[in-house]
Amino acid sequence: MGNSVTEPAAPRHDPDCLFCRIIAGEIPSERVHEDDRVIAFKDLHPQAPVHVLVVPRAHRRDVTELAEDPELLAHTAQVAADVAAEQADGEFRLIFNTGASAGQSVFHVHAHVLAGGKLAEGAL
Ligand code: C5P
Repeated sequence: MGNSVTEPAAPRHDPDCLFCRIIAGEIPSERVHEDDRVIAFKDLHPQAPVHVLVVPRAHRRDVTELAEDPELLAHTAQVAADVAAEQADGEFRLIFNTGASAGQSVFHVHAHVLAGGKLAEGAL
């Protein structure tokens, strides 16, 4: 038998992560969607009439890590579209801030869904 090297699985829950704690229900949020793979909740500091964060449950740092699971990335985008159709007219902006210099402040991947009217250029 040869040596087999097993890559460590990405941690599913980081107790020091704000969004892991929101997902676990330890910190309240106003949820608009949840399923077995993602939750979506209203941003505390909305930048548009509809501003929802779609957050995969599994802890991944950013969209680059999320892209390692194409099905989960696609599901995140589909939930974003569904939220925009339910809460607005189905037209929306989808933003993944990636890295501190790009404005990411919470390092658990999340998609910003901005919708609900004519959006300012360069929001977020
Ligand atoms: O892209 P970025 O990492 O900066 O986005 C984090 C977002 O999380 C911010 O828009 C902030 O308002 C939101 N937030 C929240 N609830 C919290 C903490 C942060 O909606 N408890």
